Amino acid sequence: APGEESPAATVLLGRYELGDLLGRGASAKVYRARDLLTGRSVAIKSFPNPRAGAGGAEEGRRPVAIEREAAILRRLRHRHVVRLHEILATRKKVHFVLDLAAGGELFSLVDASGRMTEDLARHYFRQLISAVRYCHARGVFHRDIKPENLLLDEAGELKVADFGLGAVADGNLRHTLCGTPAYVAPEILSRKGYDPAKVDIWSCGVVLFVLAAGYLPFNDASLVNMYRKIYAGKFRCPSWFSPALRDLLRRVLDPNPDARIDADGIAGHPWFCHGAGGEELAR
Ligand code: ADP
Ligand code: MG
Repeated sequence: APGEESPAATVLLGRYELGDLLGRGASAKVYRARDLLTGRSVAIKSFPNPRAGAGGAEEGRRPVAIEREAAILRRLRHRHVVRLHEILATRKKVHFVLDLAAGGELFSLVDASGRMTEDLARHYFRQLISAVRYCHARGVFHRDIKPENLLLDEAGELKVADFGLGAVADGNLRHTLCGTPAYVAPEILSRKGYDPAKVDIWSCGVVLFVLAAGYLPFNDASLVNMYRKIYAGKFRCPSWFSPALRDLLRRVLDPNPDARIDADGIAGHPWFCHGAGGEELAR
C-alpha cells in the first residue's frame, strides 16, 4: 500500500496520508496520498510555503504565483482537467489536494517507435481540445501544454494538469516569455505581445504531431536553430500521415496567429470529426 515504505507515515491535518512521490516539477513535488475520510486516492502537489520566511523558500515560487495557480484551478471543473479539492497550508508547505491521475502520462501509451495510431491520437486530441475549449471559454489559458502535463486517470481519460503558468483573460496581449521551447508558438518568440488562446492552440498542434509522428515537428540540437524553424513554421509530416491530418496540422501550426485555426475551427475539422457521433463531440 502507498505510504507503507515511509518509516513514519506523514498524515496531513489528520486526513491525508502521504505516499509515494509521483513526479516533480520546477517548484513542486507531487505525491500520491490517501484520503482517510473517504478512502479515496488523491494527488498532493506540495510547494515550499513562500511565507515560511527568509531562508526557507529560496527555490520556491512566489506567493502570488501559487495563489494564481490556485485561483485558476478553482475556476475549472471539467472532465478532462485535473480538479483541485482543497488547499492545505502548514508552516513550511502549501499543499494542493488534486484528483489523482493514476494512469500516469499520456506518453506512456506510445509504441516502441514512440508514436500512436492516428485513431488513438485523435481519441486523446479530442479530449485535449475539449479541455482547452472549456478553459478558453472560462477565460483561462494554460500556456504550457506539453506531454508532461497531460496525464491519464484510472479509467484512461486524459486530464490536463499543471496550470502553474496559466493566465486569466483580461483582454490584453501577453508579454511573458513562457512555455517549453519545442512547444512554444512563434509569436511568443517575436516578443511583440501574443494572444494566449492562440499560443495554447499552437502547442496542442505540436502535441498532436508528436503523438502521431513519434518526434517533434520543429527540432534541432541548437536552440537558436529550433527557434528559427518554429519562426518559419516549416515542418514536414511523415509519410504515414493521412491527407486530413496534414491539412489540420498546417492550419494549427500556422506561424501567423491571425490566420491560425481556433479551438472551434479544430472541432469542426474533418480529421477531428472523422468517425464520431455528434454527441461525443458536443461535450
Ligand atoms: P510543476 O508545476 O512543478 O511543473 P506539475 O503540476 O507539472 O508540477 O507536477 C509535476 C509532475 O507530477 C507531473 O509532470 C506529473 O508527472 C506528476 N503529477 C502532477 N499532478 C498529478 C496528478 N494530479 N496525478 C498524478 N500525477 C501528477
Ligand atoms: Mg509541470
